This record gives sequence, C-alpha cells and structure tokens, in this order.
Amino acid sequence: MTPRSTESLARALPDGVRELCATLRERGHEAWVVGGCVRDVLMGREASDWDVATTAWPKDVQKIFRRTIPTGLDHGTITVLLRGDKYEVTTLRGESGYADGRRPDVVTFGASIDEDLGRRDFTVNAIAYDPARDVIVDPWKGEDDLERRVIRAVRDPRERFAEDGLRVLRAARFVASLGFELDADTEAAIRPNLPTFAKVSPERVREEWMKAFRAQQPSRAFRVMRRTGMLAIHAPLIEGQDEACFERAMRRLDACPREPAARVASLVWEERSRTKEIDAWLRALKFSNHERESVLLVLAHADAPRRALDLASTRRLLRAVGTSDIGWVLATLAADVSVQGTDEARSTFDAFEARVSSVIDARDPIDLKALAITGADVMRVAERGPGRYVGEVLERLLDEVIEDPTRNDAASLLARAKVLAQSDTPKTGSSKVEP
Ligand code: ATP
Ligand code: MG
Repeated sequence: MTPRSTESLARALPDGVRELCATLRERGHEAWVVGGCVRDVLMGREASDWDVATTAWPKDVQKIFRRTIPTGLDHGTITVLLRGDKYEVTTLRGESGYADGRRPDVVTFGASIDEDLGRRDFTVNAIAYDPARDVIVDPWKGEDDLERRVIRAVRDPRERFAEDGLRVLRAARFVASLGFELDADTEAAIRPNLPTFAKVSPERVREEWMKAFRAQQPSRAFRVMRRTGMLAIHAPLIEGQDEACFERAMRRLDACPREPAARVASLVWEERSRTKEIDAWLRALKFSNHERESVLLVLAHADAPRRALDLASTRRLLRAVGTSDIGWVLATLAADVSVQGTDEARSTFDAFEARVSSVIDARDPIDLKALAITGADVMRVAERGPGRYVGEVLERLLDEVIEDPTRNDAASLLARAKVLAQSDTPKTGSSKVEP
C-alpha cells in the first residue's frame, strides 16, 4: 500500500458511500468499497458505480437502512438508496462448485474479505478499500497489475474460466475498456475453456459487447476475441473474414461513433449484403429491436454517398434515417471513408454531406410533422371518420412533397388529399425505399 493510493480513494468517495460504510460499522459490521470503482479511482478515472461489500447479512442491511431494494437477494445483494443515490451492498461471499459453468451451485455468506476478493475475476477488480481505517486490501496484487496495465486472472485462470464461462469475454472486454494488455497465462487459458464460454447466455455476452463498444478502441477486445477463438462462437460472420477484411473492420470499428449500432455495423460492413444473416445474428445475440433496426438501417445506406446524388434522393434518405439519427449515421459512413482512404471516396462523401446539410438547413419537409396539413384536415376534406386511409394519404402526400417541396402548401395538399382519400386503396409511402 502506498499512501498516495488511499488519498485518491478518500478524495473520490461520495458522501453517501462514506455514510453507508460508517453506518454499517456503527452497527458492528465491516464494510469495504470494492471492484470497478476502486480500480477506476486508482487509475485516475471517474468511478461509475460504487459497490460495497460487508460482513452484514442481507436481512441486516435491510433492517439498518430505511430505503432498500432486494436486488439480488440470492447473491446477497441489497440496493441501498441514500442521499439520492443507489448503492449495491453485497454480503461477503465465498463460492463453491460451478457445475454448469454459469453460476455457482452454492453461495456461502460469512466469508472473509480475502475470500471474497479471491472469487473475483481479475486482480485489478479484486481490490477493496476500507474508508473507516483508510486502508487498501489487495491480496492478489491488483495494484501492481494496475501499474503494469495488465489483466490477470485471480488465482489459476484455467479454473476460474471453467467456473464461469463469461470471464474469458470479460478479459477481452477489459483489454478494450481499460486499454490494458492481457497476461499471457490468462490468455492461454481461454482456448481450453471455449466450450464453457459457448454455454453462456446471449444476454450476458451482449452486455460485455456493449461495454466493449463504449471503449475508445473496441478493436482491442475484438482482436483478443479473434485470436483466442471466442469470435467464432458468437460472430461467425466476422470470424470468416480474411485478415485484410478483418483489419479494415477493426479500423472502422475504432473510427466510428460510440453508438452500439455504429460499432456493430462497422464490424459487418463488408458483409452487408447478407442482411438475413446479420438480422438472425443480432436476434440471437438479443440485441433490442431498435438496435437491430438501427444496424440494418445504417448498412442499408452504406452506399448513399454514391447513390443519393440529387436533393430529392437526399430528402428521401433523411426521411428514412430521421434527423435525430443522421449525425451518427453520417459519422459511421465517414469512418468507412477514412478506411477506404482514397481521395475519390473522400470527395464523394464530402459532396454528399453537403447535400444533407443543405436539405436540413433549408428545413425541407422530410417528415409528416412538416406537412402543411394534418390528419384532421384529411378527414375533413374526405368527409370520413378516422381510419387507416388517413395515415396512408399523409404518407403519399409526403412522398410528393419530398419530390417537390414547393407542393407543401395547404390549399393544394387539401385538394390532393381529397382525391387520394376517394380512391379506395391509396398507394402507401415509399419511406423504406433506398435512395
Ligand atoms: P465496469 O466499470 O465496466 O462495470 P466492473 O469491474 O464494475 O467494470 P461489473 O460487471 O460491474 O464490472 O462487476 C463488478 C465487480 O464484480 C467486478 O469488478 C468484479 O470484482 C466482480 N465480478 C463481476 N463479474 C464477475 C465474474 N463473472 N466473475 C468474478 N467476479 C466478477
Ligand atoms: Mg460495474
């Protein structure tokens, strides 16, 4: 322990956490802050979640604090609400037996802090800080690994990876999110444990991918995943890429915005014609509908700079993408342009970007809100009540206005709406058509 290390922790500790630990101590329990928050502060980063480990049992924690949520009672985790913040308070645990490689068979409470730290995944995540005594507990020399910037499993990596198949992916993820290197022994233990990794639920995999995507250079995680064989399990599409193609994907991945959909799209950019496979892959990995649709949307517009050559096509593009998403979509296209690295790609993109800006600046109508008439107007001129036709007529009007914005005046739209509403089955909008 160096005095400097506790200094940064003492300074960063929120009042709520200090109070929480002090209260537990007044009641005769011990309390430490542990895990990611300790690691992040020692690295000079801002801590996100402050997690507390305590000798108090979950039912004691519930009695001591007025406002609690039994978040993970089986695992001994109680969320405590204090001073407007939430803290996870977990009873010290020892664990034994992982028959399925997914969760421990038995969780035993009443362990020591050293035991608790010994069941954590990596040394840098296995450091505890006791605010009352102002001391660091670091039995696995996590501080040394922080200094060396190394991800190393606590104890024997082969055993630890066999206990919980997710840890191999977490190793890769921390290589990206912390910008560390993977210890050679720890890396060597990944391949023998791939069968256990393959059993991990897609939800847990997705969670780690998401955290990798938030890193400055997610490629650091994906390179580890590729060279250890992890990628083949959850992303055969990418794993199948040849070396040069994978390299371009990695450069695109780091250059694109941190938006998860942009990161995913960058990975499969050159496979984008395989829409069905990409869709199935994202479903299997439990990406949300919104995320999946966003990935497919940006891939569908990958060639827009070369195809949306006039203003009407550009307006159609903006209608399909939406003004709130156009920023990251453009930035994702720009990442690919930088990977292509040719003057031609650059100038084509610049001209495209200028067209998009001019459409936005001109406030050209690109969505229903911008139409000079509303659904109520359509019903009035149609002399009919509500129905599907209202939306269909409006979509059709928008199509026409997108072709020629000068048509967006109330009088001519009303006349047109009347005609369209009278024909039984008006054609629906072409919003999904690519430029
Ligand atoms: P981040 O800041 O990115 O969330 P983190 O270290 O806080 O990183 P969490 O997933 O929030 O990661 O987990 C909190 C702590 O719980 C970790 O620091 C580690 O000590 C422990 N931990 C989490 N998952 C595992 C696991 N699968 N096996 C062992 N220990 C784990
Ligand atoms: Mg965390």
